[in-house]
Amino acid sequence: MTALTNLLDLDPAQLIAYCGELGEKPFRAKQLQRWIHQFGVSEFDQMTDLAKSLRDKLAGRACVRSPDIISDHTSADGTRKWLLDVGQGNAVETVFIPEENRGTLCISTQAGCAVNCRFCSTGKQGFSRNLTVSEIIGQLWMAEFELRRTKGIISGHRGERQITNVVMMGMGEPLLNFEPTVTALKLMLDDNAYGLSRRRVTLSTSGVVPKIDALSQECAVALAVSLHASNDALRDSLVPLNKKYPLAMLMAACKRYLDFAPRDFITFEYCMLDGVNDSDQHARELISLVSTVPCKFNLIPFNPFPESGLKRSGNPRIKAFAQVLMDAGLVTTIRKTRGDDIDAACGQLAGEVQDRTNVQERMSKQAEYQKKFGANFGRIVEIS
Ligand code: SAH
Ligand code: SF4
Repeated sequence: MTALTNLLDLDPAQLIAYCGELGEKPFRAKQLQRWIHQFGVSEFDQMTDLAKSLRDKLAGRACVRSPDIISDHTSADGTRKWLLDVGQGNAVETVFIPEENRGTLCISTQAGCAVNCRFCSTGKQGFSRNLTVSEIIGQLWMAEFELRRTKGIISGHRGERQITNVVMMGMGEPLLNFEPTVTALKLMLDDNAYGLSRRRVTLSTSGVVPKIDALSQECAVALAVSLHASNDALRDSLVPLNKKYPLAMLMAACKRYLDFAPRDFITFEYCMLDGVNDSDQHARELISLVSTVPCKFNLIPFNPFPESGLKRSGNPRIKAFAQVLMDAGLVTTIRKTRGDDIDAACGQLAGEVQDRTNVQERMSKQAEYQKKFGANFGRIVEIS
């Protein structure tokens, strides 16, 4: 028996081509796409405006399937976290953050991460593999329709949409899994799928410079850059990728991106680490670093995890740091920590069902993957 084609893997053009192979006209692909992505239907039998013959053909050779849910937790503040099985002992996390006027979904793009930032627990678990398109867009598909089901909303009209914003800020470095990430982004924006505006979809990167340029050409969504340091020596020690793409290159890439971006600023994320990157001097150095890049700052209080050896800056320090930036005219927000009672806060996404005995293998994959991108930028840490 041949494997079923998972229709969640196909972008709009590929779905048209697929329907063409079945002898169907392009508008059938649009109908099919709406059933899947706008109504959350996975059973072909329920796609009532498709001809019975097409439904039968699809039933024998295709499926609509997102990764299986391993666990589903809701935090006291309403944040909801799903742990998803992506096979071979790997799990990734998807987090929904409800707010008054919007619902944001934070999605993962890789199982583990090769970049291995010092303050990030995802990096500490090594790198397993890239997620496929169906595993990336499947997070949005699963979450949107799970949320509707939970609320008792069964039909799928636009006004009932639960997820209004998507951030690629979960596990993994999206720009090191470029093609599947871009295909998933295109589906998020497509009017026959989720129809999100480019301003409401944000990709966060640790700074893969050539891919920032590629993204500007292929699918320029809002861009967040994980800066975390005001000079190269410090950033080399926190975000090892900096050794390959240092700050001057990164700032130049940010400026180029703005010509194509849906917003007229870049968001710089800055994780506040006690005694490491949080002094007034660091803030002043930052101001001159970004002086030619229209930007906003988002300060993230560090979420500690046992093996990091790092501490969160105190609230007064974070506020003082923000004040220095604001006094220089930089819009600065301090990220509220959400969902930390269910380990859903930034950098706590560790896919905890992973089999610890595979650590060695994931660490060597991390090293291999780094080599593939032309640099040995990561420290390979031992996990006890
Ligand atoms: N790989 C991408 C996207 C995922 S990480 C990137 O690095 O941008 C999403 C954000 O969470 C990044 O800004 C990252 O630096 C931050 N982060 C990682 N670990 C963290 C931690 N322990 N506490 C607070 N923020 C963290
Ligand atoms: Fe990877 Fe981002 Fe974590 Fe760095 S912060 S290790 S790039 S997921």
